[in-house]
Amino acid sequence: MRRAELPTPCYIVDIAKLRSNLELLQQVERASGCHILLAQKAFSCFAVYPMIAEYISGTTASGLYEAKLGYEQFGKETHVFSPAYTVDEMTTLCKICDHISFNSFRQLEAHRAIWENANVSVGIRVNPECSTQGDHAIYDPCASGSRLGVPLKHFRPDLLSGVEGLHFHTLCEQNADALITTFAAFEKKFGQYLPRMKWLNLGGGHHITREDYDVDGLVQLIRRIRAQYGVAVYLEPGEAIALSAGYLDTTVMDIVENDISVLILDASAACHMPDVLEMPYRPPLQNAGKWGEKPYAYRLSSRTCLAGDVIGDYSFDHPVQIGDRLTFEDMAIYSMVKNNTFNGMPLPAIVLQHENGNCEIVKEFDYEDFKDRLS
Ligand SMILES: *Cc1c(COP(=O)(O)O)cnc(C)c1O
Repeated sequence: MRRAELPTPCYIVDIAKLRSNLELLQQVERASGCHILLAQKAFSCFAVYPMIAEYISGTTASGLYEAKLGYEQFGKETHVFSPAYTVDEMTTLCKICDHISFNSFRQLEAHRAIWENANVSVGIRVNPECSTQGDHAIYDPCASGSRLGVPLKHFRPDLLSGVEGLHFHTLCEQNADALITTFAAFEKKFGQYLPRMKWLNLGGGHHITREDYDVDGLVQLIRRIRAQYGVAVYLEPGEAIALSAGYLDTTVMDIVENDISVLILDASAACHMPDVLEMPYRPPLQNAGKWGEKPYAYRLSSRTCLAGDVIGDYSFDHPVQIGDRLTFEDMAIYSMVKNNTFNGMPLPAIVLQHENGNCEIVKEFDYEDFKDRLS
């Protein structure tokens, strides 16, 4: 199918761009000797898991369902971290996971009898209490009062029997300098426990596939950690796997006038790109500029009833017409994993755009999908 023939709204995964991201990540694995895992919470498009599995070591999960998906559809290594597990979840996770990370010593002990008798490597997530991100407190696990990771004052060396790994995750869309700073803070506090560990997981938030990322700085740091402490090093990026590797195509359904011209799209920020409202940010739109940059300016909005369901203000070289198709960029990550059917909005189809340009619809949704998760 050609791109212009696709039903809208639809998420389109750009296979060529995904492959170029994966080639870089594979180079990082090879040059540094680390293991890279796909953090499925950012991107769970399992239609492309076999392709991703050709390049990186496995998946990580935020709980049982993602762990199952990675185990079934990806294969290779399956890791999981969650702040809390039920007994039933732990029993299943111990059968399908290679690594399980705990968020507290209480959880570690609560499940000890299960994991000690299973073939699984367990770790504890620590909190290095080193904030390196300014603007997005909602994404800062080192903020005061955080529930994520054990801070040094609550660390229990007396309970480390059987624990083989340490985990920290503190970054979001950051470069290698932030990791180097964070590792130094971690090392000062928890470095003394590394020699008895088998592995160290550096979490996600590494924007490795962004153009200005210091790949060499990352590789040097990992090589140093491996040489000095003799541990296996894991990275679990989500964003970096599919960064800029997807689109959300939408159709203009109406144009309404108030003080400004507002486009009514068949896509919604609230339903189909919730990070636009949550983060918040203005997503890149193909062939469009900032407000005032080009002659024809519009506010892009949706057909939900939420007044604030506004995607952003943009400008164009030509007047926009009803029926025009618009393309939001960087829509592979944190989009299809977070969407919802608020207002009964239809869910976007999921499409693979192959390297020859051919588009393949891998999933379509309808009224039954809306109805099936309600009662
Ligand atoms: C969110 C998260 C990731 C992935 O983060 P990205 O910012 O998408 O790279 C990895 N590990 C943990 C524990 C996370 O919470």
